[in-house]
Formats: sequence, structure tokens, C-alpha cells
Amino acid sequence: MSHPTDSSCIFCKIVAGQIPCFKLLEDAETIAFMDINPVNPGHALAVAKGHWPTVDVIPPDVLAAVAKTAQRIAKAVLAELKPVGLNLIQANGAGAGQSVPHLHIHIMPRRASDGVALNWEPRPGDKAEIEAIYKRLKAALS
Ligand code: AMP
Ligand code: ZN
Repeated sequence: MSHPTDSSCIFCKIVAGQIPCFKLLEDAETIAFMDINPVNPGHALAVAKGHWPTVDVIPPDVLAAVAKTAQRIAKAVLAELKPVGLNLIQANGAGAGQSVPHLHIHIMPRRASDGVALNWEPRPGDKAEIEAIYKRLKAALS
């Protein structure tokens, strides 16, 4: 099966076997391997084989395949490493912390007091502002 590729992309090079990785599994649309800069032990990545940078441009069925792969890895990480918790994280754009513009989901096991800043304190929002944005998004969805 052929996938879109970008010859300058590090994940495309991993998919093509041009640079090594600790490969956990592979199927028609996805590959999963260990993150080379693990935030915690067991940090892995579920990656689309094709080069689509972000969630808004990847075909939905490929996104679903990446999610399924992330779930398979997460189950193994939870069963084998028994972390205190696990986050699935997927960044879109540099402003969201994406450093490799090739769609992937982080499978990130958590350790107590690991300092990863992903949690936020829920604070009540401004109802009028929530409603105004809701109306814009609702219209964009129709
Ligand atoms: P993001 O910042 O969400 O785009 O995540 C990209 C991730 O890819 C980072 O956590 C990097 O550590 C990881 N990464 C970059 N190059 C490699 C590589 N050659 N093998 C494995 N992981 C990599
Ligand atoms: Zn790529």
C-alpha cells in the first residue's frame, strides 16, 4: 500500500526503514515504536505510516487506525509496567508543542510527581463567551 511521504521527515524515514527504531508493532496503516526521548519509562508513539501532519488533514479511517494502535500499546504498557496512570497525547502545530509534523499519538505512562504539566485546574468560564464560541463552532459543523 502506498502512503504520502515527505523525504525530510524523520518519521517517514523510520516508516521506510531508513533509520532504526525500537519497533513495537506495525500494520497496514500504522507503526508504533519507543520514543527516543522518553518522558517516563515506556513512553511510546503510535504513528500513521503516511505523512499527514495534523488531525485536520489525516483521513478519518487512518486516524482511527492510529487510535487503535495507541490503545494496543496502552494496554501493554498498563499491564506490563503498571504506571500510576497513562496519558494519550497528540499535538497539532508548534503552538501545541508538536516537534515532528507527522501525525502521532504519545502513549505516556505517568509516575507520581513526574512534573509533567498536563493537568489544569478547572475554573468556571464566562457563559456568554462559551455560548458565543459554541454558536460559531456549531455553524462550522453544519
Ligand atoms: P511531538 O513533539 O508531539 O511532535 O513529539 C515528537 C516525539 O518524537 C518526541 O517525543 C521525540 O522524542 C520523538 N522522536 C523524535 N525523533 C525520534 C526518533 N528518531 N525515534 C523515536 N522518537 C523520536
Ligand atoms: Zn512524515
